[in-house]
Amino acid sequence: MTQPLLRVDKLVKRFAVKGGILRRTVGEVHAVSGVSFDLAPGETLGLVGESGCGKSTTGRLILRLIEPTSGQVWFEGREVTALDHAQMTALRRDMQIIFQDPFASLNPRMTVRDIIGEALIIHGLAKNAREREDRVAELLETVGLNADQMRRFPHEFSGGQRQRIGIARALAVSPKLVICDEPVSALDVSIQAQVVNLLEDLQDKFGLTYLFIAHDLSVVEHISDRVAVMYLGRIVEIASSRELYSNPLHPYTEALLSAVPIPDPKVRRERIRLKGDVPSPLSPPSGCVFHTRCPIANTTTCRTVVPPLEEKRPGHWAACHLRD
Ligand code: SF4
Repeated sequence: MTQPLLRVDKLVKRFAVKGGILRRTVGEVHAVSGVSFDLAPGETLGLVGESGCGKSTTGRLILRLIEPTSGQVWFEGREVTALDHAQMTALRRDMQIIFQDPFASLNPRMTVRDIIGEALIIHGLAKNAREREDRVAELLETVGLNADQMRRFPHEFSGGQRQRIGIARALAVSPKLVICDEPVSALDVSIQAQVVNLLEDLQDKFGLTYLFIAHDLSVVEHISDRVAVMYLGRIVEIASSRELYSNPLHPYTEALLSAVPIPDPKVRRERIRLKGDVPSPLSPPSGCVFHTRCPIANTTTCRTVVPPLEEKRPGHWAACHLRD
């Protein structure tokens, strides 16, 4: 692998839970528990898992929108987690995020021109109002919207168009890394493919690197070079997209894949239904965090020993005692 653009090393995030009249800490939510991965320039890594598994928290930790409890993030060889506020503000030009809910993430009182132009002002990327407006027009057209719509407000657009505005805002500062945090989950299925196709086109055009977060393996299949599967704050499997979809090793990945519809009606795949719910991240299970729901867990080792994320095949890593 070439020098990674992004390196995430043993990232941990615990949120204190306060209770009682004195608001004392009564517990901790184990949101992210030792997540590590590299992301090469121009690569797309899909980060997948059920709601609450820590994938969005991981994205926010990388950007330091929230601070990690421990662990490090490196971007182009610089330790992001050691930067001061001014250095971090400058670096945010290279690292942008697209949020899940395009309506909630766009200020309803600002016009599209001001929403997109704000980033240009913060980073000093336009000399005057005229130049800023020209750049906003260019960005709107890049994401498939009309430049003459820039004086409208977010509520005047459809969900898919609002997400395009969110993408234009992220692109305004010419970033290298874009964290796509469930960018299509809130959209109609018919619109999802259009937005994913747009993101792919923009990646080709601008050489972008993506961390693409989703709760559904079917969404990330085509856009991702590699896919990492998260469960209860940990990466349990990571491999190239082709390898992961054709030869999954971890029982949790198998269960997620069994829920992905196959377009060919002649091919039938048996649905694996996991027992119970995802345990609370307030008190994750001992040993393998998946053992309470795993269809093949049968050893004391599963219940008592945390399986390390190991390279089982070249480039294919999984955290399971029973799978090689
Ligand atoms: Fe299942 Fe055990 Fe593997 Fe965990 S380590 S996934 S419980 S078989």
